Amino acid sequence: MKKLTKILSIMLVIAMAVGCFAACGKKEADNGGSEGNSIKFGTNAEFPPFEYVTQDGTIGEFDGIDIAIAKQIAEENGMEATIDNMEFDSLIIALQNGQVDAVIAGMTVTEERAEAVDFSTPYYTATQVMIVKEDSDITCAEDMADKKIVVIQGYTGETCVQDMNYEYEAFKKGTEAIMELVNGKCDVVVIDSATAQKYVDDNEGLKIVEDPNAFESEEYAIAVKKGNEELLEKINAAIEKMIEDGTISEFAAKYVDADVE
Ligand code: GLN
Repeated sequence: MKKLTKILSIMLVIAMAVGCFAACGKKEADNGGSEGNSIKFGTNAEFPPFEYVTQDGTIGEFDGIDIAIAKQIAEENGMEATIDNMEFDSLIIALQNGQVDAVIAGMTVTEERAEAVDFSTPYYTATQVMIVKEDSDITCAEDMADKKIVVIQGYTGETCVQDMNYEYEAFKKGTEAIMELVNGKCDVVVIDSATAQKYVDDNEGLKIVEDPNAFESEEYAIAVKKGNEELLEKINAAIEKMIEDGTISEFAAKYVDADVE
């Protein structure tokens, strides 16, 4: 009996030690510092061809242009990239509280966001477009005035429609918005161009309407916590190299053609 107590207490000590290691390890990760050998990227994997969930992705179950870029940035710096998937609206907060080191999410540089985070060199130019049914009479942004508009919550498309003073409904996911349109519950979805193209390719009976006079061009960049110059420099050096040597264009071509979702 005595022996059993002894064994049990040794086991308890071991368990406590392991627990402490685990807790200490976690604390380091929570600091979000990239002092380790990995860069923890936050994304919202609901935005093909930039990020989406798949069975066997470039990083774990994630793939897309941004995921390939994230991996390459880490590799260029002799580090590893990990992905933390969350709602788009939570990304900037996760960056600020150190849950992630960087955000790569097809995120458009806006003045408002630039007050909260620091942005890298932009790596992709996009614009908002309108997705409508093939037989729709919408030909420009003004035609949306008396239509049922759907946007994705927190995306720049929502801000554009707000600025136009049109009423709209916001959904959490692009796929939900597209289903509303496919099922005839709304007339138009306003969303980023490359993602719109993906949805139109994957769903019959839809088309894209562009209006460059109404929607300005947007630039995607990676966000880091304000003042994290060390990581920003690493990211910028890698991005600038990837722009120059054509890697980003290659990734874009590859994932635009890829048959996903
Ligand atoms: N480019 C848009 C934005 O920044 C949408 C990004 C996204 O959904 N990942 O709001």
